[in-house]
Amino acid sequence: MPELPEVERARALIEERALHRRIVAVDDTDTYVCRPHAPGEIADALVGRELVTAQRQGKSMWCQTSGDGPALGLHLGMTGRIVVDDAEAGDPPPAAAETRRADRFSIRFADGGALVLRDRRRLGRARLEPLIDRLGPDAAEVGRATFRERVGRGRTAVKARIMDQSVIAGVGNLLADEALWKAGIDPRRPAGELEETELDRLRNAIRAAARSALRKGGVHTGALIPARHRDGACPRCGTPLHRATIGGRTTWWCPVDQR
Ligand SMILES: [Zn+2]
Repeated sequence: MPELPEVERARALIEERALHRRIVAVDDTDTYVCRPHAPGEIADALVGRELVTAQRQGKSMWCQTSGDGPALGLHLGMTGRIVVDDAEAGDPPPAAAETRRADRFSIRFADGGALVLRDRRRLGRARLEPLIDRLGPDAAEVGRATFRERVGRGRTAVKARIMDQSVIAGVGNLLADEALWKAGIDPRRPAGELEETELDRLRNAIRAAARSALRKGGVHTGALIPARHRDGACPRCGTPLHRATIGGRTTWWCPVDQR
């Protein structure tokens, strides 16, 4: 599943290659990917304009358009990639034969090039005026006071809390496990019971993991991530990792180091 770094690569690709090119056609005929819009609605709004920005908050991405046009929201879903002309960003490509059929939404430019949302599982999304204001602050940037205030409340397990995109945006399953391990916090604990010093440690761990992955172009290179499997052991103390489902996602942690 694309996590924050993969989405950032897609955003950077759009910024580098797709801005300031006049839009002459839009294929928005996939009414599931383009919900709630009717076919032709996104095309009507975009043809004749240009994309002028490529922005991201957490895992949500959007482009402002020229002439006060509507923002275009693009979401990669589970398996989506952005392709601009011949360059790609996102999950590794599926088999070549699948490729064309997986084009769910596309924008064609006056110079003959195109921006395509390619997604074999069809869980990505293109829509006008996405609801960006429902998202929490970006996980790689969130300040200490904001993090304490937003994360450190409620009875929800802390792992589920940090993955709630309306609380902070951009923490996926792998990054959550890595950061909780690094901070020494049991993922099952109610978020509201964490001490301020624990919340500060967790924030530092999330920011460090998110920034490291962004720097490495989307590669997760944490210490715990490679050990997240049956027979996996804690990279710090060697204890066999525990596994459970938390917030609907498979979770691994060290029962000795994470309290
Ligand atoms: Zn350990």
